[in-house]
Amino acid sequence: MSKRAYNFNAGPAALPLEVLQQAQEELVDYRGIGMSLMEISHRSKEYEAVNGETQELLKELLGIPDGYKVLFLQGGASTQFAMIPMNYLIEGKVGAYVHSGSWAEKALKEAELIGETAIAAESQPGLLNIPALSDIRIPDRAAYLHITSNETIAGTQFKEYPTTGEVPLIADMSSDILSHPFDVSQFGLIYAGAQKNLGPSGVTLVIIREDLVERSNKKLPTIFRYSTHVKNDSLYNTPPAYSIYIVNLVLKWLKNLGGLQAIEKLNREKSDLLYNIFDNSGGFYEALAAPDSRSTMNVTWKLKDEELEKQFIKEFQAQGFVGLKGHRSVGHLRASIYNAVPYEACKALADFLQDFQKRNG
Ligand SMILES: *Cc1c(COP(=O)(O)O)cnc(C)c1O
Repeated sequence: MSKRAYNFNAGPAALPLEVLQQAQEELVDYRGIGMSLMEISHRSKEYEAVNGETQELLKELLGIPDGYKVLFLQGGASTQFAMIPMNYLIEGKVGAYVHSGSWAEKALKEAELIGETAIAAESQPGLLNIPALSDIRIPDRAAYLHITSNETIAGTQFKEYPTTGEVPLIADMSSDILSHPFDVSQFGLIYAGAQKNLGPSGVTLVIIREDLVERSNKKLPTIFRYSTHVKNDSLYNTPPAYSIYIVNLVLKWLKNLGGLQAIEKLNREKSDLLYNIFDNSGGFYEALAAPDSRSTMNVTWKLKDEELEKQFIKEFQAQGFVGLKGHRSVGHLRASIYNAVPYEACKALADFLQDFQKRNG
């Protein structure tokens, strides 16, 4: 087989090799039916099985309690930025947002188009950090509190989640869902575009508490109502069946690995490997995120010397590392080390970082 790249892309991102190989095996003839899964009806028993099993795997891996529905929607996390206020930000209510970075801001901007909003807390100016939970102020008329569990661009991540009482907590978990165990029952609604940690692009996971399905705005066009998708078990219209099938394979891969506890340990080892190099480099490298907010999924850093940083970028590309340039809004460097990025890739990057410093430090 040809060599696999050291893939640190931010999204769409690395998928487990085993998953790609199984998909390849089943591509032309899906489990003996003489057709690809892409060529059959979403009402077929084969696809119905994928739809049901993928929901069950998510419930099992995330420990989703009774009283929640799992949905597979389209339009990416960006569509959820709009659908949430469309469904819940009614007259007289306030959409409260923790402003933790670029993705939180995009979610907030959509809500501003729909109704009244408030910033419940925000990152410190000039610092890449997640606001302290104790600084979060939920307004009296809050329809919900929205957080972004992992800011993909800044490389910052919530370490614990706010308690919000009667106010539904809503989270964009696009870039760290399934990276560690957490208590789903704290949340009213969770959503995640698949292309970082779940599978390919094209499908968006939504986990919604049943009372929020009931409470959602009934005056919206049919496709924008959560209740429509719940009623139709994510089969209101043609779903992105192939993307959901790949998510199914990724979930089985994760389950075989030992589930969320096992992947959390591995993710910590992978990210520690890199952060430790920066912290022990005598200032040659510097992590961009505030120490208490560092993400295990997106590791951002810079080189003290601008010219050397340019040199570093040239060299990593020549060495077969892919996707290490920082997002244009933050600049510098970013390694996205989602669940499917193997430890060996992080070790190779760690070795390269140390070697580069030895030669240039
Ligand atoms: C990538 C990303 C998005 C955007 O997802 P789309 O599926 O492209 O709409 C939103 N939020 C976060 C945290 C992301 O990482």
